[in-house]
Amino acid sequence: MAHSSASDRPSRPTRRHLLQGTALTAAALVGGGLFAGPAHASRLIIGPGLEEGVLPPTESNIITPMSPTEALWNEIDGVPTMYIRDGSGVRKPASFRSTFGFYATCETWVRDSLRPLSASQGYSGLSFITSAGAYVNKAGQHGAGTAVDIDEIGWSDGRISRMIGQDWRSGDSATRKRYYAVGATMRIHFHWVLDHTYNTAHHDHFHGDFGGPRPPVLQKGSSSDVGPAQRVLNEFQGAGLAEDDIWGPLTTAAFNTSKSRLGISGDPHTSAASYRAWLEAVARKGFAGVGW
Ligand SMILES: [Zn+2]
Repeated sequence: MAHSSASDRPSRPTRRHLLQGTALTAAALVGGGLFAGPAHASRLIIGPGLEEGVLPPTESNIITPMSPTEALWNEIDGVPTMYIRDGSGVRKPASFRSTFGFYATCETWVRDSLRPLSASQGYSGLSFITSAGAYVNKAGQHGAGTAVDIDEIGWSDGRISRMIGQDWRSGDSATRKRYYAVGATMRIHFHWVLDHTYNTAHHDHFHGDFGGPRPPVLQKGSSSDVGPAQRVLNEFQGAGLAEDDIWGPLTTAAFNTSKSRLGISGDPHTSAASYRAWLEAVARKGFAGVGW
């Protein structure tokens, strides 16, 4: 996945965009505009839309509080980050915090998947990524600095995928398919990824975190994996599945049909490479706005 056209990356930023450390002014922390006072990470409040950690504690998602010296960033792989939940309805440049490791995965998501997969279907370079928040001082993956909430993806040709606008329920099938395309790019890199299929708190954004096994495989026992897969099979393939988040024989049959039509080999339930190939195929179809 080394594809990248020159127009994809007009301005690879210097590391000044990846701010670091605690000696930061409040003005640098514009996410949500709710922060006031010294920039102590323990008091950082980014804004609403930050749900509780949504998974029960397990060995794979035990939380360690994020160090205050971890990453503060206002871009992801050169794409400016924005915030739109301060009540004004205006999208504004914003900074967010996470661990360095989580930030590196955000960069990989944009560089290896979101940008090239959308570009392959005629989208221009990325112009902004709107987030509802990353690190926030509370329990769960957000509190560990290993989660991000995505509200919008903007391209320089003016197109915007609006999770915050609940594109998944759009009357336009291409708009719906693009929603699942963006989600598919995230599912390659983050685990878990939560979307509208998970609960009402996620009707208006994608949540991606480090709570589950990575690199991700499609887990039949995980509703946050199965639910989106069933919606994708219904949306793109007209599979007519009950959207019950339970992996049964009908879902297996529909999924196998999708693998055949998309030319996917291997077992996405056990092979991360196979699951990635399926997700990339979903993303290409989704950005193209067509089914299979
Ligand atoms: Zn979240």
